[in-house]
Amino acid sequence: MKVMVTGGAGFIGSAVCRLLVGEFNATVLNVDKLTYAANLGSLREVEANPCYAFRRADVCDRQAMSSLLEGFDPDAVLHLAAESHVDRSIDGPAEFIKTNVEGTCVLLEAALEHWRRLPAERAARFRFHHVSTDEVFGSLGDTGKFTETTPYQPNSPYSASKAASDHLVRAWRETFGLPTLISNCSNNYGPCHFPEKLIPLVILRALHGEPVPVYGNGANIRDWLYVEDHARALFLILSEGRAGESYNVGGNAERTNLDVVQSICRLLDDMLPESPHRPHRRLISFVTDRPGHDRRYAMDNAKIRRELNWQPQESFDSGLRKTVSWYLANRWWWEPIWAQRYRGERLGLKTSRVSADAPPHVPSPSPAE
Ligand code: NAD
Repeated sequence: MKVMVTGGAGFIGSAVCRLLVGEFNATVLNVDKLTYAANLGSLREVEANPCYAFRRADVCDRQAMSSLLEGFDPDAVLHLAAESHVDRSIDGPAEFIKTNVEGTCVLLEAALEHWRRLPAERAARFRFHHVSTDEVFGSLGDTGKFTETTPYQPNSPYSASKAASDHLVRAWRETFGLPTLISNCSNNYGPCHFPEKLIPLVILRALHGEPVPVYGNGANIRDWLYVEDHARALFLILSEGRAGESYNVGGNAERTNLDVVQSICRLLDDMLPESPHRPHRRLISFVTDRPGHDRRYAMDNAKIRRELNWQPQESFDSGLRKTVSWYLANRWWWEPIWAQRYRGERLGLKTSRVSADAPPHVPSPSPAE
């Protein structure tokens, strides 16, 4: 299988490239613009493999996308390239619309052109797979889970841009017949995660003995999935999923943000018995909530379990232990980022209507409850 992966220098994309090349012997072309979130170091394991190639390009560049598709001639496009951080989408939504919405449209147009050139047998097997998020469904109350038929109700500029791109992908299937797939996944965590996201941010700040920020009262709930379990799900969907379908992917591992932070603090206490910062939970500091902070996400993953026989291999406890160990053992990966690119500062308050003394806006719950 020849797969063009977009965003393969990012967190999930690099796990996908490592899995496809290292384990499934696929031939991969990784196409990535190399934004602040990219790290080619995440691809060390595969960069010398003859089945792997990298090209720096922007998914918004139609000419580049067409010529890469023509030259590589893939059997599938696995589209992960995106601006991915909710807080940054609050500070600057325009970049999210550009890459996530316009970029997906450009890639769909180029992929359609490529697909129409394929001989019938290859065209029937071709797939355009868009990797999306559970955040498109909005926020849940205390009960219920998102299913594949839950109506979309995105609340942040990030989730709105992903919802828009999901709709474009669906429209290219319905209107032009392109064999598309969509997967909506819950929060990922694991190695090579840029430290603006909750889990690596907490690990690195606690490691340095710095205050560990928890938004609001820490009661917001996310459903967590180890990144390699997501990568395996993506491979299964790509190779066995039914064209035109969407699949929810989630770890059945709901945790409040405060639970997650406390678990990391306990793991660090355990793994760093000599640390002067023990007990790390003393570093926890409650800060102004994220504007429009969705209260709860939970994914019903029955469809992918039933149809594709997928299930996560890691529990939240085993995956989190692996993740903390990885950050302790791989300073070479995160130290340059922490020193030069991002030092754990608060993002997402620049242009919001919520200030420290305003009551938080509570988004309306989705009908999926
Ligand atoms: P990431 O921010 O770590 O990586 C994104 C990658 O896309 C980076 O390497 C970046 O350089 C690249 N990129 C950005 N703009 C580009 C452009 N215009 N052209 C080409 N490349 C560009 O993101 P991630 O966490 O790995 O997420 C990957 C995908 O999975 C995204 O589409 C995201 O919406 C989706 N997703 C993420 C999660 C999660 O928990 N992280 C959950 C569900 C879905």
